[in-house]
Amino acid sequence: MSFQNPVFIPGPTNMPEDVRKACDMPTIDHRSPLFGTILQPCLENVRKVMKSDSARIFIFPSTGTGGWETALSNTLSPGDTVLAARNGMFSHRWIDMCQRHGLGMHVVETPWGEGIPAARYEEILTADKEHKIKAVLATHNETATGVRSDIGAIRRAMDAAGHPAMLFVDGVSSIGSMDFRFDDWGVDVAVTGSQKGFMLPAGLAIVGFSERAVAASRTARLPRTFFDIADMGRGYAANAYPYTPAVGLMNGLKYSSGLLLEEGLEAVFARHHRIAEGVRRAVQAWGLQLCAADPSLYSDTVSAIRTPEGFDATSIVAHAAERYGVAFGTGLGEVAGKVFRIGHLGSLTDVMMLSGLATAEMCMADLGLEIRLGSGVAAAQEYYRSARAGALKAA
Ligand code: PLP
Repeated sequence: MSFQNPVFIPGPTNMPEDVRKACDMPTIDHRSPLFGTILQPCLENVRKVMKSDSARIFIFPSTGTGGWETALSNTLSPGDTVLAARNGMFSHRWIDMCQRHGLGMHVVETPWGEGIPAARYEEILTADKEHKIKAVLATHNETATGVRSDIGAIRRAMDAAGHPAMLFVDGVSSIGSMDFRFDDWGVDVAVTGSQKGFMLPAGLAIVGFSERAVAASRTARLPRTFFDIADMGRGYAANAYPYTPAVGLMNGLKYSSGLLLEEGLEAVFARHHRIAEGVRRAVQAWGLQLCAADPSLYSDTVSAIRTPEGFDATSIVAHAAERYGVAFGTGLGEVAGKVFRIGHLGSLTDVMMLSGLATAEMCMADLGLEIRLGSGVAAAQEYYRSARAGALKAA
């Protein structure tokens, strides 16, 4: 008999059993009307999860990275300029993708652990009198550093500069877990994947396009075939795909997006915040620092925890897997070996999180860090108790 522990990586997340069952379905004819009973609720629910009344949703058999490519290739032309901040591994990879597509880049180098500097974006956009910049990229939640950037502030910066560029937001590790406001923030393309807030296996790129972004796709000249939203849109009109859809995953998405809406988005965000805050209390009790430079940047889906100078943070992740069968996330890129990450998104409870914190404590103690067993767990317990009691009183 082998027993499975929950994972504490920042995606793929743990899956509720009924979501897993929804993915496991018999083959259906994806060109029959039955497929429409899966596709249409997916599109409708995802639009609601992104908080939009009018976004066009497209779902590709792919991952978040394919969502980035969908955003770029459908809206831009060779030689167009894109503004982006590099403040972690995922913003770095999106910039790299732009460069490989022959786009001109205006990159704001930003220390890892900081958020996107909206004021700097405003200066650059104001100076771009000829409107050469066609798109502004923003990674809402940098999964590498546990940093949430203020997308509303970026929209305000763009408006203050009076600049017509489109706003593309990577919400891969925020959508469905943290507040994401497609309409309020004037987002033109939002990108996510199935394996984070939607609690599914990896395998779907999920994107939302504003009317402006759809209009831009009519004249955009970057080459695209698999990710062409025009082909996909024509398919959807007939409840079909231009190729074979990932029907099981989409049936899972219909179910899991329904679960999020049934719980209520604000309740989902509050749950993520509570669990995350417990982790942060534990980190403080351990005497360690988060990679995120300021509390206003703290992510509710992942915490990147700095270990003392000279200590290899990756050894915690390797040790946890080997000795206790528990998965944490390693540091990536610039912060490799300097941080380990605790993912706290998706299907997770306070009690599951406490087991993760207890495991992290055992690992750090095993590896010689000065951690008092139970110290972080107790801090999180206190927080969860008081947050639960407060919620009861408020109800
Ligand atoms: N963007 C962010 C913020 C991510 O966290 C990830 C993956 O973890 C990606 C993009 C890439 O997504 P995928 O691995 O689904 O291609």
